[in-house]
Amino acid sequence: MSNYFTKRILITGGAGFIGSHLCEKLLSEGHEVLCVDNFYTGKRANIAHLLSNPNFEILRHDITFSLYVEVDEIYHLACPASPVHYQFDPVQTIKTAVHGSINMLGLAKRTKAKILLASTSEVYGDPTVHPQQETYWGNVNPIGPRACYDEGKRCAETLFFDYHRQHKVRIKIARIFNTYGPRMHPNDGRVVSNFIIQALKGEDITIYGDGSQTRSFCYIDDMIEGLIKLMNSENDFTGPVNLGNPFEISILELAKKIIELTGSKSKIVFKPLPDDDPKRRQPDITLAKQKLNWQPFTLLEEGLLKTIEYFRKIL
Ligand code: NAD
Ligand code: UDP
Ligand code: UDP
Repeated sequence: MSNYFTKRILITGGAGFIGSHLCEKLLSEGHEVLCVDNFYTGKRANIAHLLSNPNFEILRHDITFSLYVEVDEIYHLACPASPVHYQFDPVQTIKTAVHGSINMLGLAKRTKAKILLASTSEVYGDPTVHPQQETYWGNVNPIGPRACYDEGKRCAETLFFDYHRQHKVRIKIARIFNTYGPRMHPNDGRVVSNFIIQALKGEDITIYGDGSQTRSFCYIDDMIEGLIKLMNSENDFTGPVNLGNPFEISILELAKKIIELTGSKSKIVFKPLPDDDPKRRQPDITLAKQKLNWQPFTLLEEGLLKTIEYFRKIL
């Protein structure tokens, strides 16, 4: 049994982009961290620097299969997150979202662990209200190419609430908006990583559609702080709660900013817009401010510079 301050924490998807930063932060606070990952999109390199820490343990495991370990808290992040990856094997994506969540909830029920779900702004689909509040039920195409992810996460939220109501499992649900920073995958097709890599290589910057669609980008360090504050929030607070940076920018403006910050000579080119691509996305974070005393502090320019520096090193 751990003492009051030191917890045994399971992080599913701990070798991924967000998960690896979370492992690092929770270890730095002195906790024992068990990272469970099947390395579908995650990489050993993301956590290699943590392996010498005696409080860190890593297990290669696919969470669509059951897992029996003893823990105090579970951050449930495992799921491919970028359209390129989650659409590569849509059936595996929905199995991870649904079967994976059932297994982690079964584990939480048996061990009485508190469990946090990394849900997503995608539950709002192509939103008809703007900015999005947690009370909005969303506008999702259930049979489109994004559905394996969007509906998978919506079902995961349903499962969390059913285990909470039926089995008294202690749950926390974060609806994460677009997050960026060091250790993003270079080839997962996300807009920030694509644009930075294209700019650094002097290749054309590929804007899908006319670039008028908007997103709101949150820097990874702010996101990690929000997730930990949510896990430690008042017992009766389950969420769902939006975590993201409300600063909204069009994709065209983002492209121009990245060209400027990298000093690149890349040209902008326009490509077809993917099906079901949401037109606008901006979190309303009133609830997170109230309940978690959380808000992001990193300015887009500052976060982009750190991310550019990372990609310069790995390219
Ligand atoms: P990521 O792809 O880097 O990380 C996901 C991790 O889960 C990877 O390490 C992958 O190998 C692992 N994984 C996938 N399927 C698994 C399975 N069946 N069993 C075990 N491990 C498995 O993605 P990320 O950006 O770090 O996202 C982490 C979580 O946050 C995801 O649940 C994602 O849906 C959510 N999220 C991310 C963003 C974002 O902008 N990055 C936005 C909204 C929500
Ligand atoms: N489960 C798990 N680890 C545990 C407990 C349960 O992986 O420590 C899995 C188990 O395989 C089951 C699922 O979680 O399929 C749901 O568990 P629950 O107790 O809700 O269902 P039951 O076992 O009653 O079917
Ligand atoms: N996008 C783009 N060029 C790229 C990659 C993405 O214009 O090279 C667009 C994409 O169509 C979407 C936005 O940027 O409108 C954000 O895409 P991303 O895949 O990063 O996240 P999501 O669509 O899941 O918010």
